[in-house]
Amino acid sequence: VVVIENLHKSYGAVEVLKGIDLKVNAGEAVVIVGSSGSGKSTCLRCINRLEEPTSGRIAVGGHEVTGKGVDLNALRRRIGMVFQGIDLYPHLTAKQNVTLALRKVAGLSRAEADAKALHHLDVVGLSERANYYPSQLSGGQQQRVGIARSLALEPQVMLFDEPTSALDPELVGEVLSVMDKTRKLGMTMIVVTHEMQFAREVADRVVFMDQGVVLDSGTPEEILVTPRHQRIRDFVSRLR
Ligand code: ATP
Ligand code: MG
Repeated sequence: VVVIENLHKSYGAVEVLKGIDLKVNAGEAVVIVGSSGSGKSTCLRCINRLEEPTSGRIAVGGHEVTGKGVDLNALRRRIGMVFQGIDLYPHLTAKQNVTLALRKVAGLSRAEADAKALHHLDVVGLSERANYYPSQLSGGQQQRVGIARSLALEPQVMLFDEPTSALDPELVGEVLSVMDKTRKLGMTMIVVTHEMQFAREVADRVVFMDQGVVLDSGTPEEILVTPRHQRIRDFVSRLR
């Protein structure tokens, strides 16, 4: 579903991505780990062109992402993204936050959008809070509304960039379990996270990024439990 070939990204003279290659198959959950500044967010943001790659090729669902003349709105409709920060509209309820994109972007009628929103709020365990405003929801619940909003648009892939790192520790688990459920529903996912237990339990494949390259990738066991590289051993032991 996602193909990244020899992706480079520089900011001025500083090369942040130095030739990333990554393929993600349909229904696969890939977790990207690595130290701060290794380029994880930059890589994710290139996939939906929030960052402009310097060179290389990216395709999502057979559609070219890189190159001139790409319809960015159509592209971003195929790619869901959930960030660390929570970006719900404060003046809209949970349900309205989900229906807004369905009506504006997907062009559904009010009734269709409502039904779809309620279904996806149910998937994330929030059907009872559909009419709450973001200020009446916990951070974890808000993040789950954000996931429901992305899922409702039925993207070909969902990108998660540290979706739990701004949450109080007691709220992390509920968001991770919704992400696990999302994977079990068959969604193709690329997840940047520092939650190693999640990576171990949910990832089909773990990619370790280091200084703008993929240092290694493999099963969670290969990368996180018995790493071949000293740098990864150091990284893993720091987290223990
Ligand atoms: P973290 O784990 O802290 O989120 P990361 O792996 O996501 O780190 P990136 O945010 O991708 O890392 O950043 C990679 C490098 O690119 C960093 O050195 C950062 O300072 C640099 N960088 C990111 N965005 C910009 C920008 N807009 N202009 C210049 N440099 C940038
Ligand atoms: Mg980051």
